[in-house]
Amino acid sequence: GGMNGLTIFHPDSIRENHHTPNTVLTDFQLNNISVCVGLDTTLNRTILNNIIDETEEIELYYSDKVISFEFSALDFHMPKKNKYAYMLEGFENNWKYTDAGRRFATYTNLDPGEYIFHVKGSNNDGLWNEVATSLKIIILPPWYQTTWAYLFYLLLLISAFYFTWRLQLKRIRIKNEFEMSKFEAQKLHEVDEMKTRFFTNISHEFRTPLTLIQGPAKQIIENTNESQTKDRANFIYRNSLKLITLVNQLLDLSKLEAGETTISATKTDVVAFIKEMVLSFTPLAERKKIKFEFNHNKDQILTYLDRDKFYKIINNILSNAFKFTAELGKINISVDENNSIVEIKIADNGIGIPPEKIDKIFDRFYQVDGSHTRDQEGTGIGLALTKELVDLHKGKIKVQSKEGEGSIFTISIPLGKDHLKPEQISEIDKDEYRIPSFQEDFQNLDTALQNKFDTDSFVQEQKPTLLVVEDNPDVRIFIKGILENDYKIYEAGNGEEGSKVSFTEIPDLIISDLMMPKMDGIEMCSKLKSDERTSHIPIIMLTAKATDREKIEGYETGADDYIIKPFNEQVLRARVKNLIEQRKKLKERFAKDGLFNLEDKNLTSVDRTFLKKIIQIVYDHISDTSFGVDNFASEIALSRITLHKKLVSLIGEPPSELIKRIRLSKAAKLLQGNQENISEIALDVGFSNPAYFSECFRKQFGVTPSQYQQKFNIY
Ligand code: ADP
Repeated sequence: GGMNGLTIFHPDSIRENHHTPNTVLTDFQLNNISVCVGLDTTLNRTILNNIIDETEEIELYYSDKVISFEFSALDFHMPKKNKYAYMLEGFENNWKYTDAGRRFATYTNLDPGEYIFHVKGSNNDGLWNEVATSLKIIILPPWYQTTWAYLFYLLLLISAFYFTWRLQLKRIRIKNEFEMSKFEAQKLHEVDEMKTRFFTNISHEFRTPLTLIQGPAKQIIENTNESQTKDRANFIYRNSLKLITLVNQLLDLSKLEAGETTISATKTDVVAFIKEMVLSFTPLAERKKIKFEFNHNKDQILTYLDRDKFYKIINNILSNAFKFTAELGKINISVDENNSIVEIKIADNGIGIPPEKIDKIFDRFYQVDGSHTRDQEGTGIGLALTKELVDLHKGKIKVQSKEGEGSIFTISIPLGKDHLKPEQISEIDKDEYRIPSFQEDFQNLDTALQNKFDTDSFVQEQKPTLLVVEDNPDVRIFIKGILENDYKIYEAGNGEEGSKVSFTEIPDLIISDLMMPKMDGIEMCSKLKSDERTSHIPIIMLTAKATDREKIEGYETGADDYIIKPFNEQVLRARVKNLIEQRKKLKERFAKDGLFNLEDKNLTSVDRTFLKKIIQIVYDHISDTSFGVDNFASEIALSRITLHKKLVSLIGEPPSELIKRIRLSKAAKLLQGNQENISEIALDVGFSNPAYFSECFRKQFGVTPSQYQQKFNIY
C-alpha cells in the first residue's frame, strides 16, 4: 500500500530483460572538443569522413595529446542501469568498467603506433553483449620518428662514418707524406753533408799539390824573360788559382756548416766597395761585349759588413750574371739605401731560370742545367755559399727570373750595426771601402816583407839552420827551394826522424807538417818543447786544416806559428825570417844584460829552468879553476856538442863564454864594497891567472877590476 493506493503484481509476470544491446560510439573529441565530420575548421584538417560510429579507423597526429570517445548502449529499458566496458588494445590489457553516468573514455599522450579501441555494453540486467564495437586508431609518429627520418639518420651516420674514415685516411696520407718528405730531406741533407765532408777531405788533399803547382809557376813567371814560357806559367798559375778558389769555397761551406764561421764587420762604404768591384769586372764585360752599368741612389752608403764575405757574395752573383749572359747582353748593378736597408740589385738579361727551379738554386750542388753537356762550368756551390753568407749578415737574398729574359738577384742587408753582436764588429779598420782580394794577405805581406828586406841591416854571419819535417818529398823540395839561399836546411820525413835530427843538430827553426806518419807534428812539437835541448827552437806548423780548435791545440803544445797550405813562398819566408829575428833579438838582450832578469825575457818555462840550472852549476864550481866545458856538459847531462849548440842557439854564447861571463859577474859583485886583493878575487871566481882575469874583466865591463873597485867604493 502507498499514498496512491495499493500496488499489486504477480511475481510470475516479472520477466528478465534478454536483450543484449549493441554499443555505439556517439562522439569523438580531440583536446576535449568534438571533432566534426569532414573538414574541421578549427583543426584545419579532416579526421572523420563519416560519423564516428561508421568510421573504422582514424589517423591522428603525435601532437594530438588528449583523445576521448563517447559511447552509448542501444537498450532503452532502463538506460541508467546500463553498464559499459572499454579497452584500448595496444595500450592496456584489461577492460575498464564504467556505468551510464560516465559514458566516455579518455586517453592522453599516446605513443605513435596502432591501437584498437573496444567498447561493449550490458543491459539493465547486467547482460553483456560480448561483441564489442571497435575502432582502429593510428597515431602517426612525429616527422623525426618516421621511417624516412630513420633512413635519413642512417644515411647521415653512414656518411659521417665515411667522411671520418676518408679524413683519417687523408690525415694518415698527409702524415706519411710529411714523414716521407722529412725523411727525404734528412737523407738529402745527409747526402749533402757526405758530399761536403768528402769534398772537404779531398780539398785538404788538393791544397798540397796546389801549393806545389802554384809556387813554382810563380817562380817561373818572376824569373823567366821568355814570353812564351811566361805565358804558359801564367796559365798554370791562373788555373791553380781557380782551383784554390774552388777548394776554398768548399772549405768555407764546410766551416759554415760546422758553425765555425763568424763575421767580423767593419764600417764600409757599400757604394765605393761595389764601384771597385765593378771596375774589376769591367775588362770581362768588355771582352764579352756586355753593357755593364752601375747605379746608386746615394753617393755614400755606410754600413757594417764583413768585407771578405761581402766580396764573396757580390762576386758570386756577378760571376753568375756574366756566366749566364750571352755576348752583347746587359748587366746592371744598383745599390740603394732605403728604410734602413741597403739593397743591392744585380740584373742580367741572360738565360734566366725556369720558375719551377728558382726555389732550388740556393741548394747546395744544384745546377739548373746539371747535364754533362751544359754550356757553363760550375759546381752549384756558389749560391749556397752566398745565401749562407747573406744570412750571417742577417740579410735576405731574393731572385726573380724569367726563362729566356733574365734574372734579378736582390740582396738586402740591414744598415748599421744593431743587428750584429758586439763580437762580430771590428772597429779597427779605418779604410772604408778597401776590397779584400783573394790573395790580399799575401800581397800585403809581400810589400811589408819587401820593405823589411830593404831596410834591414840584418847580416847573417853564418846561415841559420832550419829543419823541414814533412812526409811529402815534393813539399820538402819546394820548401827547400824557397829557403836554401838564406838558410842551411836539414830534412826529415816524419816526426820521429824530425825529433832525432833536432836533438843532434839543434836547428834554429823547425818547419813541420801537422799530419805525418809515425809521429805527427803536434806530438813532435810537444816532445821537442819539453826537452831542454830543443825547447827553445821555434816551430812553424804547416797545416791544411787549421780550425780554431786545432790551432789552439797546436799553440798549447808550443808551436810558434801556423802556415796554412797552400802557402805563398813570401809568406813562408816572412814567417821564418820573423821567428829567426825574434831569436836574434833575444840573444842580443842576453849579450847586453847577461843572464839577469830571466823572468822578463820571452822564454819558455823549460828554457828558463834550464838557464837557472846552468847558472847554478857554474856557481857551484865557481872557484874551481879546472871547471871547463867538459865538466859542465857532464854535469847537465848533455853531450858537449849538444850543449854548445843549445847555448849558441838560445843565448848566442858558447858554454865556455857563458862560464866566463858568470865568473866575471860574480867577480864584479865581489869587487863591490870589498877592498880585497884583486888576484884573490880572481882566484875566488876560478881565474888562476890575474892578468887574464883583468883582461877579460875589461872586455866585459869596459873598466879594469881596480877601476871598478874604486868606483864602487867611492860611493
Ligand atoms: P754554379 O757553380 O753552377 O754557378 P751556383 O750556385 O752559383 O752554381 O748557381 C746555381 C745555378 O743557378 C747555376 O748552375 C745556374 O743554373 C743558376 N743561376 C745562377 N745565377 C744565374 C743567372 N744569373 N742566370 C741564370 N741562371 C743562374
